Amino acid sequence: MRFFNCLPALAFAAIAGVSCQNTIIEREHEPLTPMSFEKVTLEDDFWLPRLKIQKETLVPFSLDKTAYAVENLRRTGQYLRGEKIEKGFEGPYYVASDLFKVMEGAAYLLILEKDAELEAQMDEIIDIIASAQDKDGYLYEVHILPEQKHNNHRKGGSGPTRYSFVDHSHELYNMGHMYEGAIAYYKATGKRKWLDVAEKNAQHINKVFFEGDPNYNGGKPVMHAPGHQEIELALVKMYHATGNELYAEMAKKFIDIRGKDRQQSRYYSQAHIPVREQREAVGHSVRATYLYSGMADVVSMTGDTTLMPALNSIWHDIVDRKMHINGGLGAVPGIEGFGPAYDLPNRDTYDETCAAVGNVFFNYRMFLMSGEAKYVDVAEVALYNNVLAGVNLEGNKFFYVNVLEADGKKPFNHGTAGRAPWFGTACCPSNMARLIPQISGMTYSYSEDDIYTAFYAGNSTVVPLAAGDVKLKQTTDYPFDGKITIEVEPAAAGQEFTLWLRIPTWCGEQFVPGELYSYADGNTSKVVAKVNGKRVRTEVVDGYMPVQRAWAAGDKVELTLPMPVRYSVADERVEADINKVCITRGPLVYCAEQPDNEFVASTYILDKIGEQGKVATFNEGIMSGINNITLKSQTVDIAEGTTSPATLKLIPYYAWNNRGDNMNMNVWFSRDAETAMKSITRAVGNVLDVQASYTYPNDDPIAVADGKHPKSSNDHTIPRWTSWATSQLGKTQTLEVTFRKEQPVESVSIYWFDDHDGVYLPAEWSMEYKDGDEWKTFQPYITDRFGVEPDQFNMVHPQGEVVTKALRITMVPQPNKAVGVLEMVIE
Ligand SMILES: [Zn+2]
Repeated sequence: MRFFNCLPALAFAAIAGVSCQNTIIEREHEPLTPMSFEKVTLEDDFWLPRLKIQKETLVPFSLDKTAYAVENLRRTGQYLRGEKIEKGFEGPYYVASDLFKVMEGAAYLLILEKDAELEAQMDEIIDIIASAQDKDGYLYEVHILPEQKHNNHRKGGSGPTRYSFVDHSHELYNMGHMYEGAIAYYKATGKRKWLDVAEKNAQHINKVFFEGDPNYNGGKPVMHAPGHQEIELALVKMYHATGNELYAEMAKKFIDIRGKDRQQSRYYSQAHIPVREQREAVGHSVRATYLYSGMADVVSMTGDTTLMPALNSIWHDIVDRKMHINGGLGAVPGIEGFGPAYDLPNRDTYDETCAAVGNVFFNYRMFLMSGEAKYVDVAEVALYNNVLAGVNLEGNKFFYVNVLEADGKKPFNHGTAGRAPWFGTACCPSNMARLIPQISGMTYSYSEDDIYTAFYAGNSTVVPLAAGDVKLKQTTDYPFDGKITIEVEPAAAGQEFTLWLRIPTWCGEQFVPGELYSYADGNTSKVVAKVNGKRVRTEVVDGYMPVQRAWAAGDKVELTLPMPVRYSVADERVEADINKVCITRGPLVYCAEQPDNEFVASTYILDKIGEQGKVATFNEGIMSGINNITLKSQTVDIAEGTTSPATLKLIPYYAWNNRGDNMNMNVWFSRDAETAMKSITRAVGNVLDVQASYTYPNDDPIAVADGKHPKSSNDHTIPRWTSWATSQLGKTQTLEVTFRKEQPVESVSIYWFDDHDGVYLPAEWSMEYKDGDEWKTFQPYITDRFGVEPDQFNMVHPQGEVVTKALRITMVPQPNKAVGVLEMVIE
């Protein structure tokens, strides 16, 4: 490290005529070593209770839910031993990955605290896993079990034979998760059995993919990157755990070959071009963040800076254009992935929990590689908001999909309007099982003579610096309070090192790094650091306030990160957030939820920017200990468009949906009545609401009146309504459109959706209008008909005068088909 003392500042001072006050300490740009999480003892009221829930509920519950994956492996073992098996493979073909992730989480718990019962359970499962490994190291149940015993998986994602369809098979994805589990268990117990299975598998994969194995692919190396990334970062972990450089080379090779071969769904799996040429975040967001994490790992491990232009540019693409304010990624449901720049809807977003976990992984690795605080700032926002929302406070219900606005009705979370107890594809709950126990290690990292604070949490640890161990004890009520005290005890008095205190982005002009969000309230808050009561006077460098001194036992560092209530606005290109504000405090995004508020959450208007309101703490029930904010606001009556004063109570976003399902919730608040009205009904003109007889869960009836006009009947880029469901095929459907005010209807035009993949043009349709309480037939004008032409609006005019408050469209599908509407125009 180099010390510049006051020199650069002095040069400036001579010109500007001001005196030198703050010392500048230059930060050395070098990769950092993270603290191993078992070396950091959490002692706080935020994470420690979560760890307890992890141990008592989440992990046992998740082991129970993945028990059928163990049975698949058991039968695979029986088959390999030549025993008779009764049943075939059950569940999605990647289900073992969920089991491995839960086991990884269990292993972390064992590191933190001995538990003979849990260890015995793990050993039993590990014996079963080992028994399911083929002689050559191959381990993927679907392709080991005999043909008649595997359902139809080979026809679908897993391909006809071993490694014949790695674009979709998840063979390498499963194994990557197995490596991570095996490494964690080895670290927890010192037992090698599972790690041996993992290493044998990795060596087998190396042979098949990079050297050539006579039993696979005609002996030619497969040389093809997997459709779902994961093995890359897992191989890096295996290299660190074993020291065997083969795994480091394999990780690099898998990254190097991506995008160089023809691959199915190339954008979806980030294989459209070689990774070094990539500049934008595209495709499935979990795959993407796992890939970028693996790339960052390879840079740290090999110093291969040729990956940096891609990593820097992709990072900017994410934080400047494609991230929700809660750190959520992957707004597009259809691909579970990144949409176009600024396409960040609140109600119809996807934001898979795993993608937010991937956002933490990616940014944390970028931080370790560079030491730059901005990456922790992003990871922190993703962790405290979107990731934590992924599981309820009790640890047994989960979000797969994370919306920023809920009406309490739409089943946004794979069929439920709240967290679900589990999912067929359980990647998200199992990711929670393994991420949370690792948080303690993310509090500090270090180099030779520098200690970096990353996440703030009450804890004790010993950081092994080159000149001697440094004991640290941190006390704080973060994230609800920004006072942080760190007591320092060096190995010997006078030990010199620099403690780099992270000053989060949210303390400055904006909530989170990137160009998307900025504070609009004009509030300022001053960060203060003291050592033994004396103000630290160093410049903030790269997002840190450095404290450099010869330390003595009992030295006390006090950092104050003020946490006023802040009002963020989004880049105006984010359509869903136009003329809206989002409330944050510290690293937390706040939302309004039904149980605390008299009116529907999205009807509240925040027209006074900057009001501090009242910050309080819940002191009973499930929300006990959690902060809330009360603000003066207005609420809009959506039928009348009038506003009245109201009190808005906000809770941290991560804590919503803990007091019952089907609750309305809102993060971005309109600044005036007009915005609120448009946003709530989301329909243009006089349309108040659209109800359908049946709606496919990813669709929405109101989309037919949202003013978005399609380019063709097969346009998948705009929201739509369809009746797609096996149970609805061929069934007559209705759409009922209600107006705010009675209006004359001169014409009605419908643009049909037809994807030739279940949803087709209807066979016929008709319309009624409401006259008082009675539905009357809408007679088309003499030359008109109820048209069913594709790729155009089908317009009908009424025979006589129609003045009404509602229309009802009745659609008869073609036999065994569903129907859909992209847009309706009523004039
Ligand atoms: Zn997931």
